[in-house]
Amino acid sequence: MTQSPLNPGDSPLVREALSSVVSRETAPSAPVAASIGYTSGMSEGDWPRPPRRRIITIANQKGGVGKTTTAVNLAAGLSMHGQRVLVVDLDPQGNASTALSVEHRGDIPSVYQVLVEDLPLKEIVSPVPDMPNLYCAPATIGLAGAEIELVSLVAREARLKRALEAYDANELDYILIDCPPSLGLLTVNAMVAAEEVMIPIQCEYYALEGVSQLLQNVELVRVHLNQVLRVSTILLTMYDGRTRLASQVADEVRSHFGDTVLNTVIPRSVRVSEAPSYGQSVLTYDAGSSGAMAYMDAARELAFRGATVAGS
Ligand code: ADP
Ligand code: MG
Repeated sequence: MTQSPLNPGDSPLVREALSSVVSRETAPSAPVAASIGYTSGMSEGDWPRPPRRRIITIANQKGGVGKTTTAVNLAAGLSMHGQRVLVVDLDPQGNASTALSVEHRGDIPSVYQVLVEDLPLKEIVSPVPDMPNLYCAPATIGLAGAEIELVSLVAREARLKRALEAYDANELDYILIDCPPSLGLLTVNAMVAAEEVMIPIQCEYYALEGVSQLLQNVELVRVHLNQVLRVSTILLTMYDGRTRLASQVADEVRSHFGDTVLNTVIPRSVRVSEAPSYGQSVLTYDAGSSGAMAYMDAARELAFRGATVAGS
């Protein structure tokens, strides 16, 4: 855990990008930080609110790349800095709902009823416990059936978009949509409803597998269904500094996607994987951990980028 994430052969770009991870690995824990007056992202005030509400779909048809973890922790980080955030859980597994401690037993109304039965979104949105400014629209397992049931419905690709439009979202700054690991109708609904796509890419073997297909789908949706859609953000996740592979993947992703990739890289951190079982984000579970600090930095980058690029 204490080993440097940098390898001697890393390119200058990767070294620069990852230097913040190095400093984070050696950052003091939260109680120690407080006692010595160490300043991390947690102690800042509010971040600038976007000129217009941002709707960001977090998609990658590969499972286990960090979509849900990213949705939950970015949402938590943004909300802790004065942003009003709604997480829409679009995965029948309901992992985002679990991590945010929002009820999603099979028998409660969820995104399923919103998409298939036209239930107003406001009927299912719940405040996240102990997190002012943060809300969640939960998913239940019944949503698995929606992929098929949507096929025969009118405007089947635009059901979520319509639900969001009908929702009084003036109160919100961000809507983050957590997608299932597929490119089916649920993910298409998420892409039609959003202006931005964020792609988490795991710094592992086959990281880029499927990404070109994902980009093709984004392009198809843009051409046929939603002209304003663009891939605005790529986030490197689960970076393991002990492996050369991770830095090679990071390098490759940056050379492909340039500025779209956030400078912040999310390290692999046990705390990140533990937090959901306590119904918490890692930011509340262990604010001083490397994973929490990285997600806070990523949220800050997202907020400050949005302050300049939104509407462009
Ligand atoms: P997806 O939503 O893309 O399927 P998840 O966010 O659920 O992916 O992540 C898959 C698994 O990896 C989960 O068990 C999660 O807790 C774990 N995980 C995600 N990010 C990290 C990280 N930075 N460090 C350690 N474990 C992580
Ligand atoms: Mg998930």
